[in-house]
Amino acid sequence: MIGVTVLGSTGSIGVSTLDVMARHPERFKAIALTANSQVERMLEQCHQHRPEFAVMVDEQAAEQLKNKLQAAGLEIEVLSGVEGLEQVAALPQTDYVMAAIVGAAGLRPTLAAARASKRVLLANKEALVMSGHLLMQEIRDSGAELLPIDSEHNAIFQSMPGNFSDGLEHVGVTRILLTASGGPFRTNSLESLKSVTPDQACAHPNWEMGRKISVDSATMMNKGLEVIEACWLFNTPASNIQVVIHPQSVIHSMVQYSDGSVLAQLGNPDMRTPIAHAMAWPERMESGVASLNMFDIARLDFEEPDMTRFPCLRLAYEAIVAGGTAPAILNAANEIAVEAFLNERLPFLSIPRIIETTLERVSHHPAESLDLIYEDDELAREMAKQLLMEHAA
Ligand code: NAD
Ligand code: MG
Repeated sequence: MIGVTVLGSTGSIGVSTLDVMARHPERFKAIALTANSQVERMLEQCHQHRPEFAVMVDEQAAEQLKNKLQAAGLEIEVLSGVEGLEQVAALPQTDYVMAAIVGAAGLRPTLAAARASKRVLLANKEALVMSGHLLMQEIRDSGAELLPIDSEHNAIFQSMPGNFSDGLEHVGVTRILLTASGGPFRTNSLESLKSVTPDQACAHPNWEMGRKISVDSATMMNKGLEVIEACWLFNTPASNIQVVIHPQSVIHSMVQYSDGSVLAQLGNPDMRTPIAHAMAWPERMESGVASLNMFDIARLDFEEPDMTRFPCLRLAYEAIVAGGTAPAILNAANEIAVEAFLNERLPFLSIPRIIETTLERVSHHPAESLDLIYEDDELAREMAKQLLMEHAA
């Protein structure tokens, strides 16, 4: 039996992970589930999946969960805080850790899983964006495995030759083609983007996801974060990564080789495919996803991305080229701006403005330690909040 800790089990990726696990009860056992504050959903998951541990980051939520589990007669140990997350990411009975917390909050437990040599199933792209160098180093040093869950990176991984760790040029890979749906506003004019609402931004045409990543998809910051994620995962500069708009979301990304070949992974847009792939790797297992019907799809379209309407993509390319803590600053400013947009305190088109000004005003440094990264992350959050206040005034 493979023991699994699901970080962020109540979220979109967490729920899909538990769905895949429940299809293979002879193979996987839930060791720990974690959430921020959603007690009712966690209680349901505890009933269904019977983990040994449940973590609620929020102390009050942890207390509530404890009482409810006791009343239900379920013997599950409840932990709280970031320490609780780090603890369950490194348990000896845990073999795989699904890193599916959203945002910077996922970094510490993901690092803890890497340090404890787990198979890390990485959905939490922000962790890699913030501290790619440190996280990859930790993976190498501890002998942990890192398998990408983000559908594009999972597709790239599937399209890569077996061993690419010595560099893509040694295995004949010339370019990564990172596909993007273009999000809900792909065909909107700049003018019409001025007044879009959070609900419109969260209505993704092909994928059902959490609200933060949905807004990131609408601004195309999600693709920008994914370019940075791909640089770290596949050890290649951003200049080797071409974003390709592909509105149908059937091809999940491609790898181009020196002989002219292009390998792609295709499938229905359902995260259970990359989750099942990474959990079964190097084998394959059933995921609950229907197989692709080519005649229903009929056609596949491709376009170049428009960096004028979607400046977040340009900002992300600039941040990874600048290096050091610049991507962490980009990510922190984006988290603040997206939250403000979701709370209707910031118009959609001001999201990139806040991020760009934060990057101009907060200087970046070599990302040599976690402390230095968190320092610049914090400075960027403060700057972005200050810019929000100026915006409101
Ligand atoms: P979500 O908002 O649906 O779920 C987030 C989870 O994280 C929840 O369980 C929540 O309780 C937990 N969480 C939130 N804030 C926390 C905090 N401060 N501390 C601890 N836990 C906290 O998000 P999601 O869509 O499942 O995305 C999760 C991650 O996976 C993100 O990094 C996202 O970019 C990535 N991802 C998601 C998808 C997708 O299809 N949803 C695809 C690719 C990558
Ligand atoms: Mg993705």
